Amino acid sequence: MTAKEHINKVLEQVIKRNPGEIEFHQAVKEVLESLEPVINNRPEYIEANILERIVEPERVIIFRVPWQDDRGKVHVNRGFRVQFNSSLGPYKGGIRFHPSVNQGIIKFLGFEQIFKNSLTTLPLGGGKGGSDFDPKYKSDPEVMRFCQSFMTELQRHIGADTDVPAGDIGVGAREVGYMYGQYKRLRNEFTGVLTGKGLNWGGSLIRPEATGYGSVYFAQEMLTSRNDSIEGKTCVVSGSGNVAQYTVEKIIQLGGRVVSLSDSAGTVYDPAGIDEEKLNFVKELKRIRYGRIKEYAEKFKGVEYLEGQRPWGIKCDCAFPSATQNEISQADAEELCKNNCLLISEGANMPTEPGAVHRAHAACLLFGPGKAANAGGVAVSGLEMSQNSMRMRWSREEVDQKLQQIMKAIHKQCVEAAEEYGMKDNLVAGANIAGFVKVADSMLDHGVI
Ligand code: NDP
Repeated sequence: MTAKEHINKVLEQVIKRNPGEIEFHQAVKEVLESLEPVINNRPEYIEANILERIVEPERVIIFRVPWQDDRGKVHVNRGFRVQFNSSLGPYKGGIRFHPSVNQGIIKFLGFEQIFKNSLTTLPLGGGKGGSDFDPKYKSDPEVMRFCQSFMTELQRHIGADTDVPAGDIGVGAREVGYMYGQYKRLRNEFTGVLTGKGLNWGGSLIRPEATGYGSVYFAQEMLTSRNDSIEGKTCVVSGSGNVAQYTVEKIIQLGGRVVSLSDSAGTVYDPAGIDEEKLNFVKELKRIRYGRIKEYAEKFKGVEYLEGQRPWGIKCDCAFPSATQNEISQADAEELCKNNCLLISEGANMPTEPGAVHRAHAACLLFGPGKAANAGGVAVSGLEMSQNSMRMRWSREEVDQKLQQIMKAIHKQCVEAAEEYGMKDNLVAGANIAGFVKVADSMLDHGVI
């Protein structure tokens, strides 16, 4: 059987075995199709059926999460944890609270996480979790009761050496705090079972900043390869949550100009550029008041609010999708190309639809895939785990320096793997291949398990 036939067979089986899980199918297809030259070179992967094993999670946990709102009404949500692959280390990956969460979305995120974590150079397996709970417009006590109920079940499946969750969409410092408190109460242990913790109780400096900063460091590496830099570049950023905020902060620090932010209701276009004062307004708006980005346009002069729109029609040099999956369509990519955009760095997970990725490659855009470009978050989570194990804390500068080194190393691995397999400049293929080979070789070492 040729490599192509083998890959197609596995893809067909994934679609048959996981009906309706379209995001998971999309993520698997994207990875497997880029592995053809590797599978061609390494027949032992076919022999040991690595592909068929790697697309099957080691464990999927689904559970009921009952909770009461402030009026005493009982609600039931569904909780998930997908422990996808532990070849390189304990399962590691965030928890997402969003009404759209279902098994297919958590599996796509967990699958991506395997290769992302492999690229970080740290000993981390891949996993992901979440719930269809919507923290928007809920009171703090409601969010606390939900988190406590969620952790009451999850705690029996995780542990500092087994599975270490973190935040993701809808899960920030508040939610991690409530979940950590409940874990500690039930297990009577103070361990590094979650990352993204508060600084007073085991968190790492730079963890909140890490995904956004990392995405900009990755963009900087891509630009450096063309003797260019972020300085003076006009950038559009989507989202206005954790990743978006720190993406903006780092771009400003490096001398770029950010002209947009968004949320699920619309986009703000600020031609004058977002400065530190405006960014502080966004941080307060989103983290403390849980408000809508529209308020930014009401607060600052000269800002346009584009109701129901994404920012990709705004003229820019660099685009940083930092909200959610499939937020850049092929038509959006056309628009970006038409406006002479140079670069896309994926702060979010799988934000670019497959057709749009092809369009970006065809136009020779620098394209940083999420697995690589947003790996800074999990990398600093890995550093948080190291600090917890040592019962020590590194300084801000130390962690930031390590983050920069890791982003450089990830970029180098992607470039080298793409070149080795004859796909120069294709960092999508490079990331998939470099991430995959390490995991596949470890699976061979561990035998048929
Ligand atoms: P947050 O919850 O802090 O922010 C999410 C932002 O995206 C909000 O502005 C939200 O708007 C917007 N958004 C969410 N869903 C949609 C949607 N369906 N359509 C349009 N906008 C949407 O999450 P993060 O910033 O942590 O995560 C953003 C992305 O980055 C996700 O893809 C996540 O998986 C990825 N990521 C995050 C990491 C981390 O460390 N936090 C690490 C690696 C990747 P609204 O408020 O209206 O919902």
